[in-house]
Amino acid sequence: MKSLSGSLLGGQSTKHNSRLGLKLATLLLIWPGSLTLADWLGDTRPLMGTEVSVYLWSESPETGQQALEEVFDEAARIDRLMSTYKDDSEISRINRLAAQSPVQIGDELFQVIQRSLDISVLTLGAFDITYDSVGQHYDFRSRHRPDAKTVESERENIDYRFVQLDRAAGTIVFLQQGVRINLGGIAKGYVVERGIDILRQKGVQNAIVTAGGDSRLLGDRRGRPWMVGIRDPRNDGQVAISLPLADEAISTSGDYERYFDEDGIRYHHIIQPRTGEPAGGVRSATVIGPDAVITDALSTSVFVLGVEDGLTLIATLPDYESIVIDAQGRVYYSDGLQKPIHDLSE
Ligand code: ADP
Ligand code: MG
Repeated sequence: MKSLSGSLLGGQSTKHNSRLGLKLATLLLIWPGSLTLADWLGDTRPLMGTEVSVYLWSESPETGQQALEEVFDEAARIDRLMSTYKDDSEISRINRLAAQSPVQIGDELFQVIQRSLDISVLTLGAFDITYDSVGQHYDFRSRHRPDAKTVESERENIDYRFVQLDRAAGTIVFLQQGVRINLGGIAKGYVVERGIDILRQKGVQNAIVTAGGDSRLLGDRRGRPWMVGIRDPRNDGQVAISLPLADEAISTSGDYERYFDEDGIRYHHIIQPRTGEPAGGVRSATVIGPDAVITDALSTSVFVLGVEDGLTLIATLPDYESIVIDAQGRVYYSDGLQKPIHDLSE
């Protein structure tokens, strides 16, 4: 989470660039008429149970700051819609009512749920928003986990096919009592996509929006690629791999985000839908591609699928690449990343 924003080289360059900006401004002030104060600006705020960061280049500080505020407002709006931790959110209402009868659902939530179900089909159920019937029984802060009996019975309620959307009627219904949905594996990617959309509409051409482990890069760092770090899953604050990227989304799912260790077992927040237990075999899964909604859902999916099945899935998606770190700390790259970037023999 903090990993991505913290390890983006942007941190250091902010100072550098603002100094540069000042110099530039002083220079520009010599010529009358040019009052531009173009510079990088950014902020990080707690939102959605994690941190949301916006970092952008703007020709005018006022426009830049305004655009930045709009992104944070949008993140708060989406959280009010999609958070299961808020009793009055639309998703909480659905979870209360949809097992009784079809519930009217807003267009935006409809779309995100539809995309979630599509990813479930694509990943043969590794990604499944109904994981929450088990997931709701975890409280990582108080180190609480469901007992074996609860897992056993709630597991029966995990199956994305219990969720039925009716486009014509604009409704959602759950086909079984006890089914619950949670968009924790996709909503941050959605926030990031919406944030970048807003910035683009405002004319911003270079920016990063990050929510937890999900980032989207707009353009580059003005002539250089952004450097994005993938956290070392077992060394807090350390970067395991740095990637030069521009105009891409990147998401990492890790077993170090929300977890507690008990008797040598790590209980974390990514659930294997087949067993109802935290998925094993992987410490972190990163997915890179054009759309943050997809990279977010796919990073959770690759985590659940494991190294082999995860990379096999990614190999079928030409626009998406992946880096997986397994339980032994070994690093695996999808085919597209293994190819040398400059191969003169081709
Ligand atoms: P983060 O950015 O919070 O690390 P991830 O993209 O790794 O998020 O998604 C983890 C979240 O996804 C969990 O906190 C939970 O809300 C949700 N989740 C857990 N298991 C699954 C699953 N099998 N399918 C879909 N969502 C899941
Ligand atoms: Mg994810």
